[in-house]
Amino acid sequence: MATMGFEFDGATFARGGDGYEPARSAAVWNARTPERFPELIVQAASERDVVAAVRLAKAEGMTIGVRAGGHSWAGNHVRDGGMLLDVSRLREATIDAAGMTATAQPGCPGNEMLAALLAHGRFFPAGHCPGVCLGGYLLQGGFGWNGRIHGPACMSVEAIDAVTADGELVRASATENEDLFWAARGSGPGFFAAVIRFHLRIYEAPKVIANGVFTYPLQELETVFRWAAEVGPEVPRDMELMVFIHRDESGEAEVAVTGPVLSASESDATTALALLETCPSRPRAKLAVPRVDVGLADLYAGVHSSYPDDHRYCVDNIWTHAPVDELLPGIERIAETLPTAPSHMLWMNWGESPDRPDMAYSVEDETYIACYGVWADPADDQRFGGWATDSMRAMEGAASGIQLADENLINRPARFVTDANITRLDEVRAKWDPGGRFHPWLGRP
Ligand SMILES: Cc1cc2nc3c(=O)[nH]c(=O)nc-3n(C[C@H](O)[C@H](O)[C@H](O)COP(=O)(O)OP(=O)(O)OC[C@H]3O[C@@H](n4cnc5c(N)ncnc54)[C@H](O)[C@@H]3O)c2cc1C
Repeated sequence: MATMGFEFDGATFARGGDGYEPARSAAVWNARTPERFPELIVQAASERDVVAAVRLAKAEGMTIGVRAGGHSWAGNHVRDGGMLLDVSRLREATIDAAGMTATAQPGCPGNEMLAALLAHGRFFPAGHCPGVCLGGYLLQGGFGWNGRIHGPACMSVEAIDAVTADGELVRASATENEDLFWAARGSGPGFFAAVIRFHLRIYEAPKVIANGVFTYPLQELETVFRWAAEVGPEVPRDMELMVFIHRDESGEAEVAVTGPVLSASESDATTALALLETCPSRPRAKLAVPRVDVGLADLYAGVHSSYPDDHRYCVDNIWTHAPVDELLPGIERIAETLPTAPSHMLWMNWGESPDRPDMAYSVEDETYIACYGVWADPADDQRFGGWATDSMRAMEGAASGIQLADENLINRPARFVTDANITRLDEVRAKWDPGGRFHPWLGRP
């Protein structure tokens, strides 16, 4: 297809033309499609399309928003004016099981990559939900399975191939275009080049996958969160201890504790799961499943049930190391104001990443708290649309920053990298994208 003098293997849609609106709304997984309208949508069907699209944007003086899996809650890449460059059709992955490396195009869903790796006895810390693609996930950090062992997934990126604002295809790694590589690992929705391929380090697959699940009545909230805060530093790194506030099947708010383990041995899994039994509320559990052996597909299905497709979302988050006494009033407020199911609050014991290298990603803390407002009816936008933002704003005095994974910068700008790193990001951006071809974050502090 020829568009403005450039040839594309894929399709293009001009604003107001046939197919434009379906292409625009399909670019965001959240059913709340932003009221922002690019002038041109390019659906790249090949890597050379990405080069052509950036060159077209340069020739026409257009800004660019890049979409991979479209799972940005805020629809970051859908902006007014300019080009929406959709790379979701670039979804190829290659695996070198013996060499412990893989490559992936940005539209490759992390869960599909992980399933292919497991078939080879290999592993990658892909995200927790099916459909999240490696494009946005790896650029923003990436909190995935066994992320507490391997660190945020961006730590396992060894190089990228990207089309720069000039329309040139470059490799960036620890030894080539180092500053671009530094920025690619953590700048997330503010990255200033279009990535067409990631080069990844992969790992041995875990030997045991299991989970423990306990649910408690809301009266146990304080006891459960005090316990979660206390045991946080002891949680083995092969377990993700997560505490949720959500609604049970009857619509009652409850507290749920889960501890998926992806362990190297049976004894590691047993030790980790035993921790879940130490909660003082244990005798009053509504449901107690100390251990269930599962496959990764079961874990994905469990997570997906809290994030149904075709629903409307508002999401926000904080990192914190504040004492639990300081956090409890905010958590209680969240429980009191929780919207309809499957809206929920997540508490995750994270701690610092092991051996974090110098990269843009630089803000993380002991505990991660996020609110996910979920509803189906557009008529409820007014009612539920501010819940996550308001809940996190009420707790921001206790926050050390946010994760870009669940960013809500358009409504609540907050610190997502250190002050030194935001300064350096601005400098690196000014070098690689002096004309502002690629959109920066939707908001920043
Ligand atoms: C249901 C659900 C579950 C989630 N679970 C997790 C989780 O477990 N762990 C976690 O860390 N995150 C999670 N997230 C957050 C998710 O990882 C981020 O929103 C991530 O950015 C999604 O990547 P994507 O490619 O699917 O989305 P996109 O919306 O396509 O990408 C997000 C942004 O990244 C940039 N971008 C994407 N691709 C490129 C590219 N090729 N070149 C340059 N810039 C690009 C763009 O600015 C784009 O707006 C979840 C999100 C959802 C909706």
